[in-house]
Amino acid sequence: MIPFNKPYYSGKEKKAIAKAMDTKILTGESEMLHQCESFLEKKYTFHRVFLTNSCTMALEMSALLATILPGDEVIMPSYTYVSTANAFALRGAKIVFVDSKADHPDMDENGIEQLITPQTKAIVVVHYAGVACDMDKIMSLALKHNLLVIEDAAQCIDSYYNKRALGTIGDIACFSFHETKNIHCGEGGFIAINTMNLAARTEVIRNKGTNRSAFTRGDVTKYEWTDLGYSSMPSAITAAFLYSQLENIDKVQKRRVKLWKNYYKKLKVLQGVHQIQLPVIPKYASNNAHIFYFVCSSAEERKSLIDYLKKNDIQAVFHYQSLHSSPFYKGKHDGRALHNADRYSECLIRLPLFYDMTTNEQELICAKVIEFYSNRNV
Ligand SMILES: *Cc1c(COP(=O)(O)O)cnc(C)c1O
Repeated sequence: MIPFNKPYYSGKEKKAIAKAMDTKILTGESEMLHQCESFLEKKYTFHRVFLTNSCTMALEMSALLATILPGDEVIMPSYTYVSTANAFALRGAKIVFVDSKADHPDMDENGIEQLITPQTKAIVVVHYAGVACDMDKIMSLALKHNLLVIEDAAQCIDSYYNKRALGTIGDIACFSFHETKNIHCGEGGFIAINTMNLAARTEVIRNKGTNRSAFTRGDVTKYEWTDLGYSSMPSAITAAFLYSQLENIDKVQKRRVKLWKNYYKKLKVLQGVHQIQLPVIPKYASNNAHIFYFVCSSAEERKSLIDYLKKNDIQAVFHYQSLHSSPFYKGKHDGRALHNADRYSECLIRLPLFYDMTTNEQELICAKVIEFYSNRNV
């Protein structure tokens, strides 16, 4: 079976973990933790980076930082992962969903302004597959209406909008190092802070609502409960594993982009003949090759294709189920139809893409997809 994903290993993880164990300081702001944070700040020019135990946790921290209160409204796409919305629902926010674009699962920037009310506090942007939303449009809307912008950049490591790293443009950004992402540590992530006055609070929120970090630095003489918070500081073991991956990021990205482009080149023959929609990368966006997806012409077609590939020992998968139709939120949604989000829920398929994938494996996958379509009536 060619799996959908195989977690990447740099081969340096075990040595790095052993070194972290030798320091005998596995908790708190360890040397390895700072090493990862500085690496990310320097390479991508974030104002401040705080590693967390997941992107989900980073999103929950961002909802606290945004001081979301019951009744506040938060605008975000419906076609996203549960964590994007759950983080704000936990604080009592009303989630206002925007449809996706016809040519891309990213939220339709032109559908946002009509949803803004006096209760709106924030816009949460999700860059699907690491492909940027039109951030100039979104940032100018936010400025005009005095809203915070939070980037769910879970899939966006090493991706850019007009040469600016994703996650550096909004006030706050949340990234994931879950094992399914390009670079990972099993479970992990970080919150990036670009609005200077939020950094001090982030440090407290990550450390259980205490000023323990300041105490460790010697800035205060005792540590106390000073705010709400979470326990979201990864151990030195996790950070050591992560650093041994970050060091290889350019190598990982080069391989993934090559595999992605090869998929595109091989499958282009299907576009136009069959009603499938290949991925679109807008001029302002780079491609970090997080996902290779395409959109089938119907739910039936997608199901048949997934079954066909499975019979041929290839694991292809669908993706999000629109949150406005989810069991938890459909009764709370305002009833607007979001046709594009539903279409991506029903018709989008993702093909295997991982660092260790061989050229032969990829040839086989492409051949089987093309074979599937040539057996169907046009
Ligand atoms: C992966 C992902 C998350 C969740 O990340 P975790 O690190 O697993 O919590 C959230 N949002 C999006 C868009 C994702 O792709």
